Amino acid sequence: MIKFLDLHKINERFRGEMDAATKRVLDSGWYLLGKEDEKFENDFAAYCGVKHCIGCANGLDALELIIKAWDIGPGDEVIAPANTYIASLIAISANGATPILVEPKLDTYLIDPERIEEAITPRTKAIMVVHLYGRVCDMRSINAIAKKHGLKVIEDCAQAHGAFYEGTRVGALGDAAGFSFYPGKNLGCLGDGGAMTTNDDELAKKLRALRNYGSDVKYHFPYRGTNSRLDELQAAYLSVKLPALDEDNARRVEIASRYCREITNPKIELPAAPTGNHDSVYHVFPVRVEKRDEFQAYLTEKGIQTVIHYPIPPHRQPAYTEWHDLTLPITEKIHDTIISLPISPVMTEEEVIEVISAVNAF
Ligand SMILES: *Cc1c(COP(=O)(O)O)cnc(C)c1O
Repeated sequence: MIKFLDLHKINERFRGEMDAATKRVLDSGWYLLGKEDEKFENDFAAYCGVKHCIGCANGLDALELIIKAWDIGPGDEVIAPANTYIASLIAISANGATPILVEPKLDTYLIDPERIEEAITPRTKAIMVVHLYGRVCDMRSINAIAKKHGLKVIEDCAQAHGAFYEGTRVGALGDAAGFSFYPGKNLGCLGDGGAMTTNDDELAKKLRALRNYGSDVKYHFPYRGTNSRLDELQAAYLSVKLPALDEDNARRVEIASRYCREITNPKIELPAAPTGNHDSVYHVFPVRVEKRDEFQAYLTEKGIQTVIHYPIPPHRQPAYTEWHDLTLPITEKIHDTIISLPISPVMTEEEVIEVISAVNAF
Protein backbone atom coordinates (compact mmCIF):
# COMPACT_ATOMS: atom_id res chain seq x y z
CA MET A 1 0.00 0.00 0.00
CA ILE A 2 1.20 3.54 -0.73
CA LYS A 3 0.54 5.61 2.38
CA PHE A 4 -0.51 9.22 2.01
CA LEU A 5 2.26 10.19 4.46
CA ASP A 6 4.48 7.65 6.22
CA LEU A 7 5.44 9.58 9.36
CA HIS A 8 7.22 6.62 10.91
CA LYS A 9 9.48 6.30 7.88
CA ILE A 10 10.10 10.07 7.83
CA ASN A 11 11.24 10.15 11.48
CA GLU A 12 13.04 6.78 11.42
CA ARG A 13 15.78 8.46 9.35
CA PHE A 14 16.70 10.51 12.44
CA ARG A 15 16.37 7.81 15.11
CA GLY A 16 19.98 7.90 16.37
CA GLU A 17 20.08 11.69 16.71
CA MET A 18 16.59 11.80 18.22
CA ASP A 19 17.52 9.18 20.83
CA ALA A 20 20.57 11.28 21.72
CA ALA A 21 18.41 14.44 21.92
CA THR A 22 15.96 12.70 24.25
CA LYS A 23 18.79 11.60 26.52
CA ARG A 24 20.31 15.08 26.51
CA VAL A 25 17.03 16.72 27.62
CA LEU A 26 16.33 14.02 30.21
CA ASP A 27 19.84 14.39 31.61
CA SER A 28 19.60 18.19 31.71
CA GLY A 29 16.69 18.27 34.16
CA TRP A 30 15.32 21.35 32.29
CA TYR A 31 12.19 20.83 30.17
CA LEU A 32 10.72 24.18 29.08
CA LEU A 33 12.24 27.34 27.55
CA GLY A 34 15.86 26.36 27.98
CA LYS A 35 18.96 25.80 25.88
CA GLU A 36 17.23 23.58 23.31
CA ASP A 37 14.52 26.17 22.66
CA GLU A 38 17.11 28.93 22.40
CA LYS A 39 19.22 26.93 19.95
CA PHE A 40 16.27 26.08 17.73
CA GLU A 41 14.98 29.66 17.77
CA ASN A 42 18.41 30.94 16.67
CA ASP A 43 18.79 28.25 13.99
CA PHE A 44 15.29 28.73 12.61
CA ALA A 45 15.61 32.54 12.55
CA ALA A 46 18.86 32.18 10.59
CA TYR A 47 17.26 29.63 8.26
CA CYS A 48 14.29 31.91 7.52
CA GLY A 49 16.51 34.99 7.26
CA VAL A 50 14.77 36.95 10.04
CA LYS A 51 16.02 38.65 13.20
CA HIS A 52 13.70 36.91 15.65
CA CYS A 53 12.13 33.50 16.12
CA ILE A 54 9.99 32.82 19.20
CA GLY A 55 8.95 29.22 19.90
CA CYS A 56 5.40 28.49 21.06
CA ALA A 57 3.07 25.55 21.61
CA ASN A 58 1.47 25.21 18.16
CA GLY A 59 0.68 26.97 14.89
CA LEU A 60 -2.71 28.27 15.97
CA ASP A 61 -1.19 29.99 19.02
CA ALA A 62 1.56 31.51 16.84
CA LEU A 63 -1.00 33.24 14.61
CA GLU A 64 -3.33 34.13 17.47
CA LEU A 65 -0.54 35.71 19.56
CA ILE A 66 0.71 37.86 16.67
CA ILE A 67 -2.79 39.30 16.14
CA LYS A 68 -3.11 39.82 19.89
CA ALA A 69 0.27 41.56 20.04
CA TRP A 70 -0.94 44.04 17.39
CA ASP A 71 -4.00 44.77 19.60
CA ILE A 72 -6.34 43.70 16.81
CA GLY A 73 -9.67 42.79 18.40
CA PRO A 74 -13.42 43.49 18.50
CA GLY A 75 -14.56 45.86 15.74
CA ASP A 76 -11.43 45.17 13.65
CA GLU A 77 -11.32 43.23 10.40
CA VAL A 78 -8.58 40.95 9.06
CA ILE A 79 -8.61 39.88 5.41
CA ALA A 80 -7.96 36.15 4.90
CA PRO A 81 -8.37 33.55 2.16
CA ALA A 82 -11.80 31.88 2.07
CA ASN A 83 -10.34 28.42 1.31
CA THR A 84 -7.83 28.08 4.14
CA TYR A 85 -7.60 25.54 6.96
CA ILE A 86 -9.90 26.65 9.78
CA ALA A 87 -7.00 27.46 12.16
CA SER A 88 -6.06 30.61 10.18
CA LEU A 89 -9.56 31.98 10.78
CA ILE A 90 -9.85 30.83 14.40
CA ALA A 91 -6.65 32.79 15.13
CA ILE A 92 -8.50 35.95 14.03
CA SER A 93 -11.92 35.29 15.59
CA ALA A 94 -10.41 34.11 18.89
CA ASN A 95 -9.11 37.68 19.29
CA GLY A 96 -12.64 39.01 18.77
CA ALA A 97 -11.74 40.39 15.33
CA THR A 98 -13.70 39.55 12.17
CA PRO A 99 -12.13 37.51 9.36
CA ILE A 100 -13.13 38.88 5.94
CA LEU A 101 -13.08 36.01 3.46
CA VAL A 102 -11.51 36.64 0.05
CA GLU A 103 -11.65 34.22 -2.89
CA PRO A 104 -8.51 32.40 -4.11
CA LYS A 105 -7.31 31.94 -7.68
CA LEU A 106 -8.35 28.62 -9.16
CA ASP A 107 -4.95 27.59 -10.58
CA THR A 108 -2.81 28.29 -7.48
CA TYR A 109 -5.47 28.00 -4.72
CA LEU A 110 -3.95 31.15 -3.19
CA ILE A 111 -5.66 34.39 -2.15
CA ASP A 112 -6.35 36.57 -5.21
CA PRO A 113 -4.61 39.97 -4.73
CA GLU A 114 -7.04 41.58 -7.17
CA ARG A 115 -9.90 40.82 -4.78
CA ILE A 116 -8.13 42.03 -1.65
CA GLU A 117 -8.46 45.75 -2.28
CA GLU A 118 -12.25 45.64 -2.72
CA ALA A 119 -12.52 43.90 0.69
CA ILE A 120 -10.69 46.71 2.55
CA THR A 121 -12.84 48.93 4.82
CA PRO A 122 -11.97 51.56 7.45
CA ARG A 123 -12.01 48.69 10.00
CA THR A 124 -9.38 46.60 8.18
CA LYS A 125 -6.20 46.22 10.23
CA ALA A 126 -4.28 43.38 8.58
CA ILE A 127 -4.04 40.92 5.71
CA MET A 128 -3.42 37.29 6.56
CA VAL A 129 -1.78 35.40 3.72
CA VAL A 130 -1.75 31.59 3.82
CA HIS A 131 0.91 29.83 1.76
CA LEU A 132 -1.55 26.99 1.27
CA TYR A 133 -0.35 23.53 0.20
CA GLY A 134 3.24 24.85 0.35
CA ARG A 135 2.91 27.49 -2.39
CA VAL A 136 3.92 31.10 -1.70
CA CYS A 137 1.33 33.86 -2.19
CA ASP A 138 1.83 36.77 -4.60
CA MET A 139 3.69 38.80 -1.96
CA ARG A 140 4.83 41.63 -4.24
CA SER A 141 1.20 42.60 -5.00
CA ILE A 142 -0.05 41.93 -1.48
CA ASN A 143 2.69 43.93 0.26
CA ALA A 144 2.06 46.84 -2.13
CA ILE A 145 -1.67 46.85 -1.21
CA ALA A 146 -0.84 46.61 2.51
CA LYS A 147 1.60 49.52 2.27
CA LYS A 148 -0.87 51.69 0.35
CA HIS A 149 -3.57 51.15 3.02
CA GLY A 150 -1.32 51.03 6.11
CA LEU A 151 -2.12 47.39 6.93
CA LYS A 152 -0.04 44.72 8.68
CA VAL A 153 0.75 41.51 6.80
CA ILE A 154 0.76 38.23 8.72
CA GLU A 155 1.95 35.05 7.01
CA ASP A 156 0.46 31.66 7.88
CA CYS A 157 3.50 29.49 7.07
CA ALA A 158 2.15 26.26 8.59
CA GLN A 159 2.36 24.47 5.22
CA ALA A 160 5.35 26.17 3.62
CA HIS A 161 8.51 25.89 5.78
CA GLY A 162 11.51 26.77 3.65
CA ALA A 163 9.67 27.98 0.54
CA PHE A 164 11.26 30.89 -1.32
CA TYR A 165 9.75 33.93 -3.02
CA GLU A 166 12.15 35.99 -5.14
CA GLY A 167 15.09 34.84 -3.02
CA THR A 168 13.46 35.40 0.38
CA ARG A 169 12.03 32.62 2.49
CA VAL A 170 8.51 32.56 3.91
CA GLY A 171 8.51 33.88 7.44
CA ALA A 172 10.44 36.94 6.22
CA LEU A 173 7.94 38.17 3.62
CA GLY A 174 5.50 40.11 5.81
CA ASP A 175 5.46 41.90 9.20
CA ALA A 176 5.28 38.64 11.17
CA ALA A 177 4.68 34.95 10.53
CA GLY A 178 3.32 31.90 12.31
CA PHE A 179 4.66 28.36 11.82
CA SER A 180 3.32 24.97 12.95
CA PHE A 181 5.52 21.94 13.63
CA TYR A 182 2.61 19.50 13.84
CA PRO A 183 4.04 16.06 12.93
CA GLY A 184 2.64 16.02 9.38
CA LYS A 185 4.04 19.42 8.31
CA ASN A 186 7.15 19.74 6.11
CA LEU A 187 9.10 20.37 9.33
CA GLY A 188 7.33 18.41 12.05
CA CYS A 189 8.21 17.42 15.62
CA LEU A 190 6.92 14.46 17.66
CA GLY A 191 3.94 16.30 19.14
CA ASP A 192 2.71 19.88 18.99
CA GLY A 193 5.02 22.82 18.36
CA GLY A 194 5.00 26.25 16.73
CA ALA A 195 6.99 29.43 16.20
CA MET A 196 6.61 33.10 15.36
CA THR A 197 9.11 35.00 13.21
CA THR A 198 9.57 38.75 12.69
CA ASN A 199 12.17 41.44 12.03
CA ASP A 200 10.37 43.82 14.44
CA ASP A 201 12.33 44.08 17.74
CA GLU A 202 9.42 45.48 19.79
CA LEU A 203 6.96 42.90 18.48
CA ALA A 204 9.43 40.08 19.21
CA LYS A 205 9.80 41.27 22.81
CA LYS A 206 6.03 41.38 23.26
CA LEU A 207 5.51 37.94 21.67
CA ARG A 208 8.21 36.49 23.94
CA ALA A 209 6.26 37.80 26.94
CA LEU A 210 2.80 36.85 25.61
CA ARG A 211 3.69 33.16 25.19
CA ASN A 212 4.73 33.04 28.86
CA TYR A 213 1.70 34.55 30.66
CA GLY A 214 2.67 38.05 29.52
CA SER A 215 5.79 38.08 31.69
CA ASP A 216 8.84 40.15 30.68
CA VAL A 217 10.92 39.43 33.77
CA LYS A 218 10.02 36.69 36.25
CA TYR A 219 6.76 37.42 38.16
CA HIS A 220 6.24 40.77 36.42
CA PHE A 221 3.32 40.93 33.94
CA PRO A 222 2.93 43.92 31.59
CA TYR A 223 0.41 41.92 29.46
CA ARG A 224 -2.37 39.39 29.99
CA GLY A 225 -0.63 36.61 28.13
CA THR A 226 -1.12 32.89 27.80
CA ASN A 227 0.76 29.65 28.33
CA SER A 228 2.15 28.66 24.93
CA ARG A 229 5.70 27.36 25.25
CA LEU A 230 7.75 25.11 22.97
CA ASP A 231 9.06 22.31 25.15
CA GLU A 232 12.72 21.31 25.20
CA LEU A 233 12.16 17.85 23.74
CA GLN A 234 10.28 19.16 20.70
CA ALA A 235 12.85 21.94 20.19
CA ALA A 236 15.65 19.34 20.32
CA TYR A 237 13.88 17.13 17.74
CA LEU A 238 13.32 20.13 15.48
CA SER A 239 17.05 20.99 15.63
CA VAL A 240 17.78 17.42 14.50
CA LYS A 241 15.40 17.69 11.53
CA LEU A 242 15.99 21.30 10.38
CA PRO A 243 19.27 20.56 8.52
CA ALA A 244 17.37 18.03 6.34
CA LEU A 245 14.50 20.38 5.44
CA ASP A 246 15.90 21.81 2.20
CA GLU A 247 16.74 18.37 0.86
CA ASP A 248 13.32 17.04 1.88
CA ASN A 249 11.61 19.95 0.14
CA ALA A 250 13.75 19.41 -2.97
CA ARG A 251 12.55 15.80 -3.11
CA ARG A 252 8.93 17.01 -2.84
CA VAL A 253 9.52 19.41 -5.75
CA GLU A 254 11.08 16.58 -7.77
CA ILE A 255 8.03 14.37 -7.24
CA ALA A 256 5.67 17.26 -8.01
CA SER A 257 7.56 17.97 -11.25
CA ARG A 258 7.15 14.34 -12.30
CA TYR A 259 3.44 14.42 -11.45
CA CYS A 260 3.01 17.63 -13.48
CA ARG A 261 4.89 16.20 -16.48
CA GLU A 262 3.58 12.66 -16.48
CA ILE A 263 -0.03 12.87 -15.28
CA THR A 264 -1.76 13.33 -18.63
CA ASN A 265 -5.29 12.18 -17.84
CA PRO A 266 -7.63 14.97 -19.05
CA LYS A 267 -10.00 14.22 -16.13
CA ILE A 268 -7.31 15.43 -13.71
CA GLU A 269 -6.78 19.17 -13.21
CA LEU A 270 -3.18 19.73 -12.08
CA PRO A 271 -1.97 22.62 -9.89
CA ALA A 272 0.23 25.27 -11.57
CA ALA A 273 3.62 23.59 -12.29
CA PRO A 274 6.73 24.14 -10.11
CA THR A 275 8.90 27.01 -11.30
CA GLY A 276 12.16 25.59 -9.99
CA ASN A 277 12.58 28.56 -7.63
CA HIS A 278 10.98 26.58 -4.81
CA ASP A 279 8.02 28.93 -4.77
CA SER A 280 6.20 25.81 -3.64
CA VAL A 281 7.47 23.16 -1.25
CA TYR A 282 4.45 20.94 -1.98
CA HIS A 283 3.21 20.26 1.51
CA VAL A 284 0.56 18.36 -0.40
CA PHE A 285 -0.04 17.75 -4.12
CA PRO A 286 -3.64 18.79 -4.76
CA VAL A 287 -5.44 17.93 -8.00
CA ARG A 288 -9.04 18.62 -8.97
CA VAL A 289 -11.36 15.89 -10.27
CA GLU A 290 -15.06 16.27 -11.09
CA LYS A 291 -15.86 12.69 -10.03
CA ARG A 292 -13.82 12.95 -6.85
CA ASP A 293 -15.55 10.26 -4.80
CA GLU A 294 -15.22 7.76 -7.63
CA PHE A 295 -11.55 8.73 -8.10
CA GLN A 296 -10.77 8.33 -4.40
CA ALA A 297 -12.52 4.94 -4.21
CA TYR A 298 -10.65 3.82 -7.34
CA LEU A 299 -7.25 4.78 -5.86
CA THR A 300 -8.11 3.14 -2.52
CA GLU A 301 -8.92 -0.03 -4.44
CA LYS A 302 -5.45 0.22 -6.04
CA GLY A 303 -3.84 0.60 -2.61
CA ILE A 304 -3.09 4.33 -2.90
CA GLN A 305 -4.11 6.57 0.00
CA THR A 306 -5.41 10.07 -0.67
CA VAL A 307 -6.71 12.87 1.58
CA ILE A 308 -9.17 15.70 0.86
CA HIS A 309 -7.85 19.13 1.91
CA TYR A 310 -10.58 20.15 2.70
CA PRO A 311 -14.06 18.69 2.18
CA ILE A 312 -16.11 21.60 3.66
CA PRO A 313 -15.15 25.27 3.20
CA PRO A 314 -14.97 27.45 6.34
CA HIS A 315 -18.05 29.48 5.33
CA ARG A 316 -20.15 26.29 5.34
CA GLN A 317 -18.96 25.12 8.78
CA PRO A 318 -21.46 24.96 11.67
CA ALA A 319 -18.98 26.91 13.82
CA TYR A 320 -19.40 30.04 11.66
CA THR A 321 -23.15 30.45 11.02
CA GLU A 322 -22.63 34.16 10.25
CA TRP A 323 -21.01 33.13 6.94
CA HIS A 324 -23.70 30.70 5.76
CA ASP A 325 -25.25 33.31 3.42
CA LEU A 326 -21.96 34.04 1.65
CA THR A 327 -21.54 32.89 -1.96
CA LEU A 328 -17.93 32.08 -2.80
CA PRO A 329 -18.08 30.12 -6.08
CA ILE A 330 -14.32 29.58 -6.55
CA THR A 331 -13.83 28.40 -2.97
CA GLU A 332 -16.85 26.10 -3.27
CA LYS A 333 -15.63 24.67 -6.57
CA ILE A 334 -12.23 23.94 -5.02
CA HIS A 335 -13.69 22.24 -1.96
CA ASP A 336 -16.05 20.16 -4.13
CA THR A 337 -13.34 18.80 -6.43
CA ILE A 338 -9.96 18.89 -4.68
CA ILE A 339 -8.04 15.78 -3.56
CA SER A 340 -4.39 15.33 -2.53
CA LEU A 341 -2.14 12.61 -3.98
CA PRO A 342 0.66 11.08 -1.88
CA ILE A 343 3.85 13.17 -1.76
CA SER A 344 6.66 13.00 0.79
CA PRO A 345 10.45 12.97 1.02
CA VAL A 346 10.48 9.23 1.72
CA MET A 347 8.38 8.14 -1.27
CA THR A 348 10.33 5.81 -3.56
CA GLU A 349 10.60 6.25 -7.32
CA GLU A 350 8.59 3.02 -7.77
CA GLU A 351 5.77 4.46 -5.67
CA VAL A 352 5.75 7.70 -7.67
CA ILE A 353 5.51 5.71 -10.92
CA GLU A 354 2.72 3.57 -9.48
CA VAL A 355 0.69 6.66 -8.53
CA ILE A 356 1.19 8.20 -11.99
CA SER A 357 0.09 5.07 -13.87
CA ALA A 358 -2.92 4.54 -11.60
CA VAL A 359 -4.04 8.16 -12.01
CA ASN A 360 -3.58 8.04 -15.80
CA ALA A 361 -5.61 4.81 -16.01
CA PHE A 362 -8.64 6.34 -14.21
C1 LIG B 1 -1.59 23.13 10.58
C2 LIG B 1 -2.08 24.48 10.23
C3 LIG B 1 -2.31 25.46 11.22
C4 LIG B 1 -2.31 25.18 12.70
O1 LIG B 1 -1.20 24.58 13.22
P1 LIG B 1 -1.32 23.72 14.57
O2 LIG B 1 0.07 23.51 14.99
O3 LIG B 1 -2.06 22.46 14.25
O4 LIG B 1 -2.09 24.56 15.56
C5 LIG B 1 -2.62 26.74 10.81
N1 LIG B 1 -2.76 27.05 9.50
C6 LIG B 1 -2.60 26.13 8.53
C7 LIG B 1 -2.75 26.54 7.11
C8 LIG B 1 -2.27 24.81 8.87
O5 LIG B 1 -2.12 23.90 7.89
